[in-house]
Amino acid sequence: MDIYPWHKNVQLAFLRNKTNLSHAQIFFGSDSVGRNNLVRNICQTLLCHQVLDDQLPCQDCESCNWFKNTSHPDFFLVDESEDNLNISVDKIRELKDFFELSSHYQDSYKIAAVMNAENLSKASANALLKILEEPPNNCYIFLAIANLSNALPTIRSRCQLVSLPNPSKEQMDLYIKNNEIKIDHGQLEFLNNSVQALSEEKDRYAIALEIIEELKKGNSVQLSKTTTKWLDYGLKWFVDVIQKWTYEIFLNKLTSQHCYFPQHHEVVGELAKKSSLENLLLFQKRINEIKLYSTKSVNKDLNLDLILLEYKKIFS
Ligand SMILES: [Zn+2]
Repeated sequence: MDIYPWHKNVQLAFLRNKTNLSHAQIFFGSDSVGRNNLVRNICQTLLCHQVLDDQLPCQDCESCNWFKNTSHPDFFLVDESEDNLNISVDKIRELKDFFELSSHYQDSYKIAAVMNAENLSKASANALLKILEEPPNNCYIFLAIANLSNALPTIRSRCQLVSLPNPSKEQMDLYIKNNEIKIDHGQLEFLNNSVQALSEEKDRYAIALEIIEELKKGNSVQLSKTTTKWLDYGLKWFVDVIQKWTYEIFLNKLTSQHCYFPQHHEVVGELAKKSSLENLLLFQKRINEIKLYSTKSVNKDLNLDLILLEYKKIFS
């Protein structure tokens, strides 16, 4: 359960103030692995008996050992993310019951963490709100969520909000070096500098490169060169790839800058020259329409061809 190096300061700043700890907090940031690890690590530290100077858990005391064995009597975890389930109202009732028991150690905290809190159903969010309205003594709730806007305003207003930073370029480079992660030139830019995407999207990236190879041909893209593999991760994913690519052409046309594909700067520049701004905007409009229905049950192959025909028009 290592936390990202760029989250260490968040933990330090947060726990330095633990005497004024709010009863509920929302940690929000797009990287679910990093977010959940940080929340767990903070909970473990709050329960640890020999916290280290830099506000990290000792990993050695009885409490830390219980925590690592997921058997800590004063910690309640709601994490349905693996099964992709909604968080049921029964789970929140269990949480409430947990808070009503006295803590194992005298005067110790009782802590609950709700991961991926965007998956709270309406009923479970309301049940949670009831707990937040009258939090029992020494009880603390941590909610982890990707987007703050996905939390009910009534819940948000009762929580301390902690925004998780993204790594700087230098932090990211160091992380990749220290962890001996192999990446291609341009891969990080394509994945929006996300560590999580780096580990999860390895296979996807190879296919994205294949798609880009074809898109580089501009007006000469051949529909016969497409393969069903391009749709392995869904139509929406394909739309995302081509959207990034055409955004790059658009950006180049306006500013000569690059964003997602630094390695293809030259080709993008040539395509930008062959394109018209009007056609690029028309394509964006069209692809946004397709994106709206791209997760519904539609004929994906047909839409793939349609998108490529529209793409070719950019350069006509
Ligand atoms: Zn400890």
